[in-house]
Amino acid sequence: MNPEPSRLVLKAGRDKSVRHRHPWVFSGAIDRIEGEPEPGETVSVVARDGAFLAWAAFSGDSQISARAWSFDPKDRIDEPFMRARIEAAIARRADVRARSDAMRLVHGESDGLPGLVVDRYADTLVVQILSAGAERWRPIWGPLLTQLTGAKSVYERSDVEVRALEGLPSRTGALIGDAQGHVRIEEDGIAYEVDIAKGQKTGFYLDQRDNRALAGSLAQGAEVLNAFCYTGGFSLSALKGGAKHVMSLDTSEEALALARRNVALNGLDAARADWLAADVFAQLRKFRDQGRKFGLIVLDPPKFAPTEKHVANAARAYKDINLWAMKLLAPRGHLLTFSCSGAVSPDLFQKIVAGAAADAKADLQVRRHLGAAPDHAVSIHFPEGEYLKGLWLQAA
Ligand code: SAH
Repeated sequence: MNPEPSRLVLKAGRDKSVRHRHPWVFSGAIDRIEGEPEPGETVSVVARDGAFLAWAAFSGDSQISARAWSFDPKDRIDEPFMRARIEAAIARRADVRARSDAMRLVHGESDGLPGLVVDRYADTLVVQILSAGAERWRPIWGPLLTQLTGAKSVYERSDVEVRALEGLPSRTGALIGDAQGHVRIEEDGIAYEVDIAKGQKTGFYLDQRDNRALAGSLAQGAEVLNAFCYTGGFSLSALKGGAKHVMSLDTSEEALALARRNVALNGLDAARADWLAADVFAQLRKFRDQGRKFGLIVLDPPKFAPTEKHVANAARAYKDINLWAMKLLAPRGHLLTFSCSGAVSPDLFQKIVAGAAADAKADLQVRRHLGAAPDHAVSIHFPEGEYLKGLWLQAA
């Protein structure tokens, strides 16, 4: 590494967020760049008066011009530094291991490793590299991760749109070993097959672990509706939890096929489960026309608001599905409703859901606020990391 790192000098008055340990330096905050840093190169971020603020990875193509590795001037940003960060991230999650052999091991900015996501699926790791900084260190991730976890293979799923904002191409494939497309995991005593090569995200919605367990605990004897079911996470929890019947909806035939296989894998009674390839918006209305009622409904839609400018449309979509779901709730029925749009705050989400309840003339109580499982812990300095929010509501 260059012994004289380039410097990003911030504008007067624009150093507050970095001083507060927020890891992002926006292009608008930069007064000048001293040197000619390459994409992902480590630079020092300094205040107008030259005071050290952070070591950061430079990303000239992005609105986020740099992401901080460290706020300590004594740190050296090298391979031992990265190793220590990964070790710390793994050690923090020791408590999750008792419940599942699948978990998020590295959660980007919140683990002090901006742009790096690592999910563990039994003996296979899936890596997402989302920033120029994490990309620059790409050769070390595979070897480091296998050494520190004992995992046999590492698969890369850097096929996410945010990479384009960093000037990076989409990339997928084995980094180490010969990871197969499908991997088997076990979470809270339920086995799932996960498609790490073609599935959504890195293959499975690990962030919903605790909420799947909650659904299982509410399902006994209930007619259950799981809308946006993907490969059946909530459906299997409900079946295992003793649901009378589970109706699951998704538009993806591949996801539904895998969900059916997951039922068989667990020896659960397939007759208690229906899998319908349908659009949730239309199907909820059909169920209403048919006079159907459910004791437990899960609404876990895809990210309706990828960015701030989609929030208004997303709010309408969230309101619509929640309103129609509320009309389908049996007396004292439970609704677990989620949003994974980072641009929709928990506060706004609750307002949208309250608006839906008012229009549906539904009398509901918030039993609990829900969020991502603790292996998706968010740095207190990085509220942007808190994307998943949900409400456990119960009808009167
Ligand atoms: N609850 C799931 C994750 C849901 S991800 C779990 O815990 O594993 C969102 C899912 O919604 C995806 O599987 C996607 O195929 C599906 N989807 C997106 N739009 C849809 C629509 N309009 N109707 C039904 N399913 C939809």
